[in-house]
Amino acid sequence: MTISVRKAAAVAALSAALAGCGGGAGTSDAAREARMGSPAASAPASAATPSASAAASPQAGAPAKAPTLAPGPNGLTPVFERAKQQSDKTVALTFDADMTSDQGPRAADGEHFDNPQLISTLRKLRVPSTVFMTGRWAEEYPDQAKSIGTDPNFEIANHSYSHHAFKSPCYGLPALDGAAARADVDRAFAAFRTAGAVNTVPYFRFPGGCYDDDALRALSTAKVTAVQWDVVSGDAFAKDPGAVAEQVLAGVKPGSVVVMHCTRSAAPVTEEAVQRIVPELRKRGYRFVKVSELIGK
Ligand SMILES: [Zn+2]
Repeated sequence: MTISVRKAAAVAALSAALAGCGGGAGTSDAAREARMGSPAASAPASAATPSASAAASPQAGAPAKAPTLAPGPNGLTPVFERAKQQSDKTVALTFDADMTSDQGPRAADGEHFDNPQLISTLRKLRVPSTVFMTGRWAEEYPDQAKSIGTDPNFEIANHSYSHHAFKSPCYGLPALDGAAARADVDRAFAAFRTAGAVNTVPYFRFPGGCYDDDALRALSTAKVTAVQWDVVSGDAFAKDPGAVAEQVLAGVKPGSVVVMHCTRSAAPVTEEAVQRIVPELRKRGYRFVKVSELIGK
């Protein structure tokens, strides 16, 4: 009984964390907005500013080369959700490689927070993609982090080190205060470097997608662009790849950012869904790009 209670608690916690990463199975955009506390409403005006500018003064920690958005009002971290240009049928599939800082024992017990098959399929299908990786994930799977981070098909963006909350409440995730939040971002970039990943970009996805102006202010010196999404795949804890594919295909518009996951443990049908999504979107005239290409437009 102890075991089943423990397991149920663990599943609930993981469910909460992942749901925050883009909604649970079957969530619509509207439902996501409700569940997420409408992050767009708390975003500064910069969220709607598509004008890109090269990162002028890269800070320690954040890699520089990729295009970033200009800071928002009062220097707040800018937020990107999707490219608004309608002329070009491009779409970015993004994959959150989630692992919370306290999940080491579960990985040691054999739980798979990685998804090598998914990465292999993205390579085989030649789908350039952006992986939002936690530092803890890179520590657990350094060979995979290096392999992804040295493959031009991919870019690695920052999904925090700990996968804790940058704004509270956030699906029950433990909260970081401003200074800890800032340090957590640096610690993730450091973990990528330690693993040997070089294709890193100065983009940051808030755990659970939860943020407010305080969180954007806390990260202002990190010189990152916060990246949200406009299409929720619903792959977290999904059992039916067809339903995930349908939800994505129904939601994608030119310039969309789709949030999915790169963890077998909590998103077991993502690879199968990708097998269905990719050829169909190509048939509709879409081209797959990394987030950096969308932001650079
Ligand atoms: Zn996440």
